[in-house]
Amino acid sequence: MMGETTKPARVRFAPSPTGFLHLGGLRTALFDWLYARHTGGQFILRIEDTDQKRYNPESLADLMAGLRWLGLDWDEGPDVGGPYGPYVQSERQPIYAHYAEQLIASGHAYRCYCTPEELEAMREEQRAKGQPQGYNRRHRNISAEERAALAASGRPSVVRLAAPLEGTTVVHDLIRGPIAVENTTVLDPVLLKSDGMPTYHLAVVIDDHLMQITHVLRGEEWISSAPLHKLIADAFGWELPVLIHLPVILDPSGKGKMSKRKTVVAGKEYLALVHEFVEAGYLPEAMFNFLTNVGWNYDPEQEVFTREQAIARFDVKDINPTAAALPYPKLEWLNGVYIRELDPEELTERLIPFLSRQLGIDEEALRRSERLAKLVPLVQERIKLLTEAADKIDWAFKEASEITYPDPTLLIGKGLDARQSLDVLVRGRDLLATVEPFSAPLLEERFRAAAEEAGVKVGSFFAPFRVAITGRTVSPPLFESIEVLGRAESLARLDNAIQALRAYVGERV
Ligand code: GLU
Repeated sequence: MMGETTKPARVRFAPSPTGFLHLGGLRTALFDWLYARHTGGQFILRIEDTDQKRYNPESLADLMAGLRWLGLDWDEGPDVGGPYGPYVQSERQPIYAHYAEQLIASGHAYRCYCTPEELEAMREEQRAKGQPQGYNRRHRNISAEERAALAASGRPSVVRLAAPLEGTTVVHDLIRGPIAVENTTVLDPVLLKSDGMPTYHLAVVIDDHLMQITHVLRGEEWISSAPLHKLIADAFGWELPVLIHLPVILDPSGKGKMSKRKTVVAGKEYLALVHEFVEAGYLPEAMFNFLTNVGWNYDPEQEVFTREQAIARFDVKDINPTAAALPYPKLEWLNGVYIRELDPEELTERLIPFLSRQLGIDEEALRRSERLAKLVPLVQERIKLLTEAADKIDWAFKEASEITYPDPTLLIGKGLDARQSLDVLVRGRDLLATVEPFSAPLLEERFRAAAEEAGVKVGSFFAPFRVAITGRTVSPPLFESIEVLGRAESLARLDNAIQALRAYVGERV
């Protein structure tokens, strides 16, 4: 068993570029990558774009960006090349045509010239007779003359597998055991379409063979195709790679498979696309940790682990085939954990693109901002998503005149009346104007002493300043915030707040 798991594996992620990468696809890619890295093998990116009708030109860039974001580097692929290229199926058409001809020559496949109308009539008849619907093998055993005449007619044709007419085909899934199909139910499926493109089934078997793939990890939805792949591989005289069908990810509502777009369940939004998670401010470290435990488990006793630890321990035979819904709250929690683990300079760098967008400040200006460098450690403990910082520190990037007090009663400390709060603000203003050095610890010391002297509870004494300085009732630690702003800016804000409260008092009293 040891030998089996340590042999370098060749594992491919083979997405169809039909839409944006979602979390299910990313989980498949992650498991592929983990296994390749665990065994010291190769991770291959292959693009399965033979269904031209469903091709989405934006998809490929999104896919690669998603993989790179998570740190899943590929050893062979469309952009990096490799010894078994091309890695885009539409560029491999001559290869599939060659192998289809080989199957025709060996009697394992044949051309079928049935028109769509004929196929529909066939199904109609089967429906009327209550028979299972599908191709009735009409062109499998036609005479050489009839075949020649059909070929000469110029009618388009497809290549179909000549499936065995008896027996059972059994294919093994490493974590699920045998999957069997009665050969009579395999109604000579199409291998090569009339446009010359292969079907998924033909292309996947040929490519996995030519690219020397040792392990196929893919979504559970492909399990029903596995026996057909075995029949095609048998026709060539090839072995299939080891198959592992990954558990489906369920919708948060528990109803069926997870959607490929964000959904709202009981008023809460659940993201599905990788780029949505990136934009929402998730860290790749957290996502990596999170997804590794979706269908596999690092250690029930240890929720947080590194990439290296996951690589060292990951093994395909331990994948759990049971479908489960994503534990979204855990992802958010993990994100907070990884945010707290970052060096403040690194966190600042990661926050900058978000802050730039949210606050409308140039990235370079933010990079040079001493205020930002000082604020990041103050909010590091308080955010779970990179998008949450802007709202906590935006006040520091405003002019004093932009901090307004539409509701001056917020400047009134708990248990105080408006005049008492005004008195508190004036006392504090005098301290701010004179304290030397202008540092958070000293400010706090003086404010505490002033609160005592005034006979006001510390909390009630501090609260008006928080609102005066930041314009809000919740903020990063007060005195650090004041220190970050500096004396002149803090005084300007206090003066505005005092004026606002005076106006309020004047009106009311
Ligand atoms: N192209 C298939 C997909 O889009 C890949 C299935 C497989 O891995 O065999 O999921």
